[in-house]
Amino acid sequence: MISINEALQFVLDQTRAGRAVRVPVLSGQSETPDALGRILAEDVTSDIDSPPHDKAMMDGFALHGDNLTGGDGPSSSHVELQVIEEVTAGTVPSKTLASGKASRIMTGAPIPAGASAVVMVERTEFQADPSGESLGTVRISCADLPSAGENILPKATSLAVGQQVLSKGTTLRPIEIGLLSEVGRTGVDVFARPSVAVMTSGDELVTPDKKPGPGQIRNSNNPMLVALARRAGGIVKDLGIARDEEGDIRRLVAEGLTHDILILSGGVSAGVLDLIPKVLADAGVEQIFHKVNLKPGKPMWFGVHESDGRKTLVFGLPGNPVSSLVCFELFARAAIEKLRGAGDVALPMVHARLSQAHQQRGDRPVYFPAAITNGEAASGGLPVATPLPWQGSADLATLAQADCLIYFPAGKNSYTAGDVVEAYRFDD
Ligand code: AMP
Ligand code: MG
Repeated sequence: MISINEALQFVLDQTRAGRAVRVPVLSGQSETPDALGRILAEDVTSDIDSPPHDKAMMDGFALHGDNLTGGDGPSSSHVELQVIEEVTAGTVPSKTLASGKASRIMTGAPIPAGASAVVMVERTEFQADPSGESLGTVRISCADLPSAGENILPKATSLAVGQQVLSKGTTLRPIEIGLLSEVGRTGVDVFARPSVAVMTSGDELVTPDKKPGPGQIRNSNNPMLVALARRAGGIVKDLGIARDEEGDIRRLVAEGLTHDILILSGGVSAGVLDLIPKVLADAGVEQIFHKVNLKPGKPMWFGVHESDGRKTLVFGLPGNPVSSLVCFELFARAAIEKLRGAGDVALPMVHARLSQAHQQRGDRPVYFPAAITNGEAASGGLPVATPLPWQGSADLATLAQADCLIYFPAGKNSYTAGDVVEAYRFDD
């Protein structure tokens, strides 16, 4: 039987890199697909310099270089300069500063030619010219004179024309949406979300709106798997339930094979009605592996189907809900992530300290539900994991109490309180 890592490698080897699609950077309507949360499929460069000009970082006065060193003569305690113009943000200066002159300037406005620094308005005294011939004069104490370059942000400090601002593979958060807009982009290439179909099979299954009769259970897998696949980034279609009958399964499988990924649950173990592998083989799906050394999830089946240039990855998950979840997270999720441009992502594992002794039966690696609390000094800062009284792979109710699955490797059965283990946290 192959190991978890070997199985994952088979899945990744069979998964192609994602396709690029053009989407609006941000759509006005929140339900319309846009770039937020998607992964960039192109490198993005700037079409502008930012700032586009040397710019004032303060409200104040732009000064000539000659006037930064003090007044006339060594005794003078201040400078007094003639104000020749007022430059507000959004306008451009029309006058060149000469020695003895200053321009009133607002934050963000372009620095006039000839200016070397800006003094903030709070450090100045302005006197309007009552004659109206000039704007007035500004008086600045020598101690408050700025040094050369002070309060000026030079042109293109933050961005230059042609500079790469975002690289392919970047996840687009609100910050990147802003940056794309700053460099003039309204549309952008991102990786397409893979289309995923979910189906299940079993004569015992009824839809969640029905009360199960004798021998029946509700189909909880499809809603859970649809939700998992959607959260992983897929566009998901629920194909519903097939009876344990070849024709019925074949019908849903045929529809599933028109998607990038087909996820089935149930019917892959060794029971008399476990028809999935046979129907998939008849439909031309090539088996890559069946059975993984893993608990829960050993019956896991994986294959691929190719027709008309479309490749479908087919995951036959074991029917028990917790087995389905574990196998989805280990294998199907990796394929969805790769197709949506995230690359080869492994399950994010954290270290945690066991709060209590734990006895592990059997000789397979196990994923075991546990509650987790944040670490304190006593745990050396590590989160603390408490294995839950879990009743096995059909026990979804206990799984709902869990924050993580602890990974217990094969070969070690006895754990004591304080042992460090690896865990997969659901929320990460
Ligand atoms: P199977 O692999 O078909 O033998 O299924 C294994 C176990 O999982 C059986 O107890 C099934 O009843 C259960 N099971 C199969 N499919 C589902 C489903 N869609 N929802 C909930 N339980 C299921
Ligand atoms: Mg079944």
